[in-house]
Amino acid sequence: MIPFNKPPVTGTEIKYIKRAIEINQKLSGDGPYTRQCNEWFELKFHTPKALLTTSCTHALEMAAILIDIQPGDEIIAPSYTFVSTVNAFVLRGAKIVFVDIRPDTMNIDEKKIEAAITDKTKAIVPVHYAGVACEMDEIMDIANRYNLYVIEDAAQGVMSTYKGKALGTIGDFGCFSFHETKNYSMGEGGALLIQNEKFMERAEIIREKGTNRSKFIRGQVDKYTWVDIGSSYLPSELNAAYLFAQLEDADVINQDRLKSWELYYERLKILEFQGIIKLPVIPQEAVHNAHMFYIKCFNIEERSALINYLKENEVLTVFHYIPLHTADAAVANSIFYGEDNYTTSESERLLRLPMYYGLEEYEINRVSELIIKFYESVKRK
Ligand SMILES: *Cc1c(COP(=O)(O)O)cnc(C)c1O
Repeated sequence: MIPFNKPPVTGTEIKYIKRAIEINQKLSGDGPYTRQCNEWFELKFHTPKALLTTSCTHALEMAAILIDIQPGDEIIAPSYTFVSTVNAFVLRGAKIVFVDIRPDTMNIDEKKIEAAITDKTKAIVPVHYAGVACEMDEIMDIANRYNLYVIEDAAQGVMSTYKGKALGTIGDFGCFSFHETKNYSMGEGGALLIQNEKFMERAEIIREKGTNRSKFIRGQVDKYTWVDIGSSYLPSELNAAYLFAQLEDADVINQDRLKSWELYYERLKILEFQGIIKLPVIPQEAVHNAHMFYIKCFNIEERSALINYLKENEVLTVFHYIPLHTADAAVANSIFYGEDNYTTSESERLLRLPMYYGLEEYEINRVSELIIKFYESVKRK
């Protein structure tokens, strides 16, 4: 059986977790491993502030608190995304204004954003789908002209760039995920990247249950107290130790995934050439991280048949997001602005192939051969 995903393991995780327990003797948050992870992001991605969090969901929630989202405020986001992209803002009373995606990258269509802005709009939340950058120059230009915040959902975009800049460091905030399905993991976890100095102190407070404990630990105040709203957004050192092991091998993991991605592309491009399937598009300005390899089938029926065929042959593949504007919770909390030209139709065609650190060439060959064989038996007009 070829699984869809395997959590990444590099081999040094146990050693570091053991060190956290036996040498550092520090298991709660913000110990040496958390600090090392934060510094790693700051150095590697040239960002002034990174804070490890318990998830990307929580990093997004922190961003929503930091920009002071109030009931009735609006944010603009794609509908083709994970629930957390918008739930973080719905939790604070925001209304979500969805706009359509681009069919080539499945990212928010930057050309549809401006018309969706009202005097209630507070932020744009682009999602870098599959670790492939949104058109950030245009998004930042709109945000600057209308005085809006930009919060990048870079859950899938760790180690990807746009015009040489790391995803997550272009907007006001960037949110990473280290869930076990992402390129680098700590089981459950994430990070908040902050570009603007004015948010940094409050971010530490919100993350530490609304207290100034971080300042206390640094000796900047002599007692710590309740100073703001907040929650518990800092992960345990055990999780941070696991992640740090992965970060040390980040380039190895990245190269391995990119190699697998290229192999899939090579094996399957014949089907795209024949006009049978579509393959992912990587814009020129974007360097991606092989978070995902997907193909696009003709329609949802063909996709279901292919999923079943692959499953019968012991290969697990999965489709992805059901557009949020079609979900039950959408009625009360959101609108779709403009036409849904691509969000629903393209999401119904997309199929994700097995992709993980350590995926073998023979496995990629097998998946690709099965897909080619499936299409040999499908008759198209
Ligand atoms: C995985 C993911 C999230 C949520 O990440 P968690 O760390 O599980 O909270 C949010 N947005 C996108 C686009 C994701 O892929």
